[in-house]
Amino acid sequence: MELRNNQYVIDGVPVTAIAEKYGSPLYIYESARMISQYQRMTGAFKDARVRIHYACKALTNINVLRLFCRLGAGLDAVSMQEVRLGLKAGFNPQDILYTPNCVSIEEIEEAVETGVRINIDNISILEEFGIKHGKEVPVCIRINPHIMAGSNHKISTGHIDSKFGISIYQMPHVHRIVETNGMIVEGIHMHSGSDILDVEVFLRGAEILFETAQSFRDLQYVDFGSGFKVAYRVDDVATDIEALGEHLTRRFNQFCQDYGRDLTLLFEPGKFLVSEAGYFVARVNVVKQTTSTVFAGVDSGMNHFIRPMFYDAYHEIINVSKPEGKTRIYAVVGYICETDTFGWNRKITEISAGDYLLFKNAGAYCFAMSSNYNSRYRPAEVMVHRGKDYLIRRREEMEDLTRNQVEADLGFADVDTKD
Ligand SMILES: *Cc1c(COP(=O)(O)O)cnc(C)c1O
Repeated sequence: MELRNNQYVIDGVPVTAIAEKYGSPLYIYESARMISQYQRMTGAFKDARVRIHYACKALTNINVLRLFCRLGAGLDAVSMQEVRLGLKAGFNPQDILYTPNCVSIEEIEEAVETGVRINIDNISILEEFGIKHGKEVPVCIRINPHIMAGSNHKISTGHIDSKFGISIYQMPHVHRIVETNGMIVEGIHMHSGSDILDVEVFLRGAEILFETAQSFRDLQYVDFGSGFKVAYRVDDVATDIEALGEHLTRRFNQFCQDYGRDLTLLFEPGKFLVSEAGYFVARVNVVKQTTSTVFAGVDSGMNHFIRPMFYDAYHEIINVSKPEGKTRIYAVVGYICETDTFGWNRKITEISAGDYLLFKNAGAYCFAMSSNYNSRYRPAEVMVHRGKDYLIRRREEMEDLTRNQVEADLGFADVDTKD
């Protein structure tokens, strides 16, 4: 998005025009940004045999999946439903890595049927899987390296208390299971959490992964997960992907030499690929002056955009209806009947009822986490591709709220006002 002739435009299309056309609230995605983030990543690792798997839980619209499929990405799926969406979008099963956590063995068996690659993060499942499939179905093993990265406990997954992965201290047990069943371990994986990637800490984690990987002799790939940081505030530090590419490529190629074979270096970013490509637009219903602050209340809430309330996430807010002019300080809030704040103390150009506010970094974990709370419809989604806007999901309607409700034959004839 850029400011051009006093208008905010996404790939040349004015944001307010898109909002007028499709209504609000609305999610808008910029394909050019997804493409450039993907290319930035492959570029940073151009000297390694790298594969990028899009972690689709960030944003599962089928058009987004198709775009990454066309770009040559693979897919990281955490549920059977994501596997199905990926297959529907055209991914080859062998380019999908299924990485579940705490799912039943039945769901894992279902995934095996579809031919996707299987990532196992639990000893008991590994054992059951090995007894059943032996060498017939290769597996990837997710390890827990026991490193604490980042400070947000809700989104870090590689620390000692984490439910993810098999502890590196349990590797002797893993080897026992693998050897006894003649299993083939084709990949080794770690993912230490979201939005935490500091190059130094990451390289230390990588050493643990390399050390563990040495003891598995059938590897084809080493998967470093994700955790890439993107900037939410103007002065935020994002992961220096080029620096990481340079250091890790050198180290990885060295590892391949020591290992005795060329392996594939795998990453599975979600946020890095789509966060900055997404924008959320809502319309101001009321501007309310109280004794302590000025509220701008919009036609949406945490039901559509939960990250500020859920993770204390900061999302920049811009009044796209008034690109220039004097700013005032606002609390931007939603219409949900409980505390529902998008941002406190935000300097925004003067807001009037009817203005469109735009929230940045709304590509990852925004629509994907939306709900029908307060019985509201979920928003529409639009993709701007090569200067043209496309509707990629219709706004919900009343029928969507009632579709699965059953008006059962209860009658309640036995209930009356005296009860
Ligand atoms: C969520 C997740 C990712 C993606 O994380 P981002 O921070 O969005 O890049 C990658 N791998 C696994 C296993 C995940 O659960």
